Amino acid sequence: MLVPVRCFTCGNLISDKFDEYQEKSQQSVGGSPDKILDELGIERYCCRRMLLTTVETIQQIIPFYEAMHRRKTEIQTEME
Ligand SMILES: [Zn+2]
Repeated sequence: MLVPVRCFTCGNLISDKFDEYQEKSQQSVGGSPDKILDELGIERYCCRRMLLTTVETIQQIIPFYEAMHRRKTEIQTEME
């Protein structure tokens, strides 16, 4: 799923901070994410959960769409 642009609860803009959050969390593997969220200035827990719980699944889904497209073109060539 793509990153939500705004917090579902309060409407605060969060998508602009997601890239920075991911970079910092990958750099400090094993570190606690609360310090990163404090550095980014995200104080409300509704906004914090948005960044903590977002999982980007687009890279895992793309191969399935590519396979579907390949199969569709195979069927179309068989029909001709
Ligand atoms: Zn919020």
